[in-house]
Amino acid sequence: MQAIKKVLIAGGGTAGWMTAALMSKVLGQQVQIALVESEEIGIIGVGEATIPPIQTFNKFLGLDEKAFLRETHATMKLAIQFENWRVKGESYLHTFGAPGASLGFCNFQHYWERAKRQGVKGSIWDYDLNYLACKQGTFNKINTQNPIYDMPYAYHFDSALYGKFLRGLAEQSGVVRHEGIIEHVAQDPETGHVSGVQLTDGRQLEADLFVDCTGSRALLIQKTLGVAYEDWSHWLPANSALAVPTERHDKTAPYTRSIAHDNGWQWRIPLTHRNGNGIVYSTTHTTDEAALANLMGNLDTKPLADPKQLRFNTGRTSKQWYKNVIAVGLSSGFLEPLESTSIHLIQSAIVRLLKLFPHQGIQDSAVEAFNEEGRIEYETIRDFIILHYKVTERDDSEFWQAMRNLEVPDRLQHKIDLFTSVGEVFNDQHDIFRDASWIQVMYGQGLTPQDYHPAANAMNLDDLKATLDKVLAAKQQPLAKMLPHDDYIKAFLGAA
Ligand SMILES: Cc1cc2nc3c(=O)[nH]c(=O)nc-3n(C[C@H](O)[C@H](O)[C@H](O)COP(=O)(O)OP(=O)(O)OC[C@H]3O[C@@H](n4cnc5c(N)ncnc54)[C@H](O)[C@@H]3O)c2cc1C
Repeated sequence: MQAIKKVLIAGGGTAGWMTAALMSKVLGQQVQIALVESEEIGIIGVGEATIPPIQTFNKFLGLDEKAFLRETHATMKLAIQFENWRVKGESYLHTFGAPGASLGFCNFQHYWERAKRQGVKGSIWDYDLNYLACKQGTFNKINTQNPIYDMPYAYHFDSALYGKFLRGLAEQSGVVRHEGIIEHVAQDPETGHVSGVQLTDGRQLEADLFVDCTGSRALLIQKTLGVAYEDWSHWLPANSALAVPTERHDKTAPYTRSIAHDNGWQWRIPLTHRNGNGIVYSTTHTTDEAALANLMGNLDTKPLADPKQLRFNTGRTSKQWYKNVIAVGLSSGFLEPLESTSIHLIQSAIVRLLKLFPHQGIQDSAVEAFNEEGRIEYETIRDFIILHYKVTERDDSEFWQAMRNLEVPDRLQHKIDLFTSVGEVFNDQHDIFRDASWIQVMYGQGLTPQDYHPAANAMNLDDLKATLDKVLAAKQQPLAKMLPHDDYIKAFLGAA
């Protein structure tokens, strides 16, 4: 076993610089960290919506939130609005909040199901603060320990600027950056471990451990070590995207929009200086030309550049850590961006690697633990994304008919069956989406439980209605102190 003293990060996209920043913060005194990237090759340059754990990542790095917002043109994200997903013309929000409050033995949806059957009007989202703030287009931070006022948020940001921001931090912490193109990856003839990379100008960079952040090229993990790719396109057939920036709106919504079309879906992400837009589709069901026409015909502000074409293959590397190479970012796989999970997968892979960091040498048990947790995390996100396509009433195109009739992974089918029968969702370990997320998407896509938990009958009906009214009033209370989203950002940054 060889002690790990030198790490080389291959690639400087979001994955590379997130890895460099966190690793140097945690291990900078103990290991030498270098990063090689190529401006000529560049980065993928999309990926602008995140989920709330990004706040933990930024806080751990010691990022000042105001500086971060300013440098990356970020806005606050409370939810994703899914439009036309269940049927055309309808929408629902998957918020980062949780509808309702803790009322006893069973979850809030059971009380809500009973109340609904007794004629209580409205929707379960009326009891969700994130939803209420989205509907008003407002935001404010709520300083309280009371979970009923929790309003988790994430960010929309320019990921290329985020990478630059993190590069500054990482270099200050001692990460050495090399500019150049990796031409050859050398392996130890006995162990097969990667021993170094050679750049086109002849420079050799050696290390004990390599983090493959080379994006979909997966230069080390797949091309060199030959780790197989699990193809999930039979479940998630989208393989293409077109992305185009447009002028910003006068009012910035605090949520991402995901608009379903006949053969795919379109994203709209508000930043402070522009909007990110794009369309995701499968070339089995439509053509690039038709997708382009669909995207350009559905922009509501002026394009600022030509659309950029992207190709991908949904799935993951069967082993994220193999020999002395760990794949982080797109080199480890890609699930389409429907729930904005790729940057989170980068974060969780780095955290996992740092927890299991092989100071004294690589142990099989650490590699297995790393790979197993990564596998479950990828698979549970995959299932959550498939849910949006599978549970739909749309049958107006071959694409939607195919998605409705999809045979889904067993774990997902079980989740659907459980919710539709008894209204329950169990949290899988390492699933980043908790029951509140699954419930919102299941309701939003049109599932209704046949039954609710009998514990919800313990309250008499008048008490139940009074309790729901109290929850409603509590959820509405912080709204009065919220500002229109743009005003909040201006006020927050102005106070810097
Ligand atoms: C359509 C689409 C939309 C997306 N939307 C979101 C979203 O909303 N939210 C989200 O979280 N994620 C999103 N993603 C994913 C997100 O873009 C990526 O996860 C993220 O940008 C990380 O990319 P990366 O760093 O792994 O790869 P890249 O950005 O491709 O970086 C690869 C790096 O490797 C370097 N490199 C490659 N080959 C060599 C070589 N031979 N020599 C030297 N250097 C090399 C490159 O120069 C570059 O620095 C989206 C992805 C797509 C395709």
